[in-house]
Amino acid sequence: MGRRWWRISVAAMVLAIAGYLLLATGQWLEMSWSLVNTVLPTTAIVVAARGLPRNARAAWYLLALGEFANGTAVVPNVIIYDVLGSDAYPSVADAFYLLFYPAVLTSIALMIRRWPPQLIQPALLDAATITAGISVLAWVYAIEPALRDPDYTRFGQLVRVAYIVGDLLLIFLALILVRSGGVTGAGRARWSLAPPWLATGLIVFLAGDLFWLIVGDNPMPGWVSRGTDAVYFAAFVILAYAVRYATATDEQRAGAVPRPPGIPLMITLLLALLMAPVVLVLQMSQGAFRHGWAIATGSTIMSVLVVTRLTVLLRYVERQNEQVRDLARRDELTGLPNRRAWTDELPRVLEQARQSGRPVSVCMVDLDHFKAFNDTYGHQAGDRLLKEAAAAWLGQVRRSDILARYGGEEFIVLLPDTDLDAACAIMQRLRQVTPAGQTFSAGAASWDLSETSEELIARADVALYEAKHTGRDRVVATSGAHP
Ligand code: GH3
Ligand code: MG
Ligand code: MG
Repeated sequence: MGRRWWRISVAAMVLAIAGYLLLATGQWLEMSWSLVNTVLPTTAIVVAARGLPRNARAAWYLLALGEFANGTAVVPNVIIYDVLGSDAYPSVADAFYLLFYPAVLTSIALMIRRWPPQLIQPALLDAATITAGISVLAWVYAIEPALRDPDYTRFGQLVRVAYIVGDLLLIFLALILVRSGGVTGAGRARWSLAPPWLATGLIVFLAGDLFWLIVGDNPMPGWVSRGTDAVYFAAFVILAYAVRYATATDEQRAGAVPRPPGIPLMITLLLALLMAPVVLVLQMSQGAFRHGWAIATGSTIMSVLVVTRLTVLLRYVERQNEQVRDLARRDELTGLPNRRAWTDELPRVLEQARQSGRPVSVCMVDLDHFKAFNDTYGHQAGDRLLKEAAAAWLGQVRRSDILARYGGEEFIVLLPDTDLDAACAIMQRLRQVTPAGQTFSAGAASWDLSETSEELIARADVALYEAKHTGRDRVVATSGAHP
């Protein structure tokens, strides 16, 4: 659906809400306008979802179903309470209202399965922790009192609890959507705009529910109840609008990275954890301590979740550390180990050679007239040659050898278990595979069992200079011991 289509649809939906607020006087007009405010967003969802890939549609159809059931509950409501004059609670209307919760839960669960797991896993843990904290409050101050309310039948009490549990579910879903934020691409854009729109829709719906929870059965003026209904209709529209952004590509999803967790996350988790002791203190201060089990259960669940979350975080940091370490030791252009990595390896290899009594050789390699190559073919062609040469040479050495970029057009090879003759033979092989007719000069030196690693490298360097000064395109071995 194009931008124009969405503009017209949203305008129609906003007008329908205004119509409800201004014109819906009397139960029948109210019912009709409510149906308009339900049918418009649900139709928008279905129409837009038909343009999505087949396996992505079901989630949005379920969301539409949830909105449709919740919005059409007004029909049985008017018939049962206004036409038939019944005062039964609960009624069929409640089944319509309540269907919203499982439908939206399933809908978002289906969406989340397709979202980046690297974002969803921590979001699930955060959302579960915070919801557990709020659930302790909800149990003590809403659910448990509702279960003891003598004004209701047992079934009525359970239906009232179902609404509260449904709201806790919405809080959970909204938190997942908020916490699953992340970025993707070079411009570091949000990986998808659907989650924030869905979260906003759920939060607006929750605001309506919270109002009902507070007002309860108290009578209220018509404009207040219409205003509350308008809040639900606005939630329907916002949720419907999310489908516009349901088309994040697979590459966007796969490349999404979480934003680094920080102080706000720690504060949130701490606040959730504190929910249990705070309720405990409130209870004790009122001298009526009755909810030990709820508080103990809540704090146990939260503790396990928080420690799990921190473990996930720790692993994330460790992985990043590894990546940074790897980046710091690798040459960006050729992918070879860089000078630092190579220099770190050398003493270890010399120590092994000391213990085993096996020879070790080091070769310095420098491309000939490479400045001229750059001047002739351009710097990019020069880069390409460096890359291709590195790859070709790498194919000629053993896994235990270490070929590194020493800097610029200079390379260095560390050859364990290799004497000077063998090292020169390997260098001759490298000369033959160097691409684009490019030549290099090399200096080779074998470890004399007593010199330091710096002295060894210096001798190879002297040999390289000799190779340059005696005409280039050759390998010079230094037989002498260090000066
Ligand atoms: P010689 O035979 O004496 O070694 O001559 P040369 O031109 O190779 O040596 P010189 O040290 O004068 O110049 C090295 C050149 O290597 C300079 C620079 O243009 C080129 N170079 C160094 N690093 C890179 C790189 O990362 N990419 C490209 N394309 N060129 C590089
Ligand atoms: Mg050079
Ligand atoms: Mg050179």
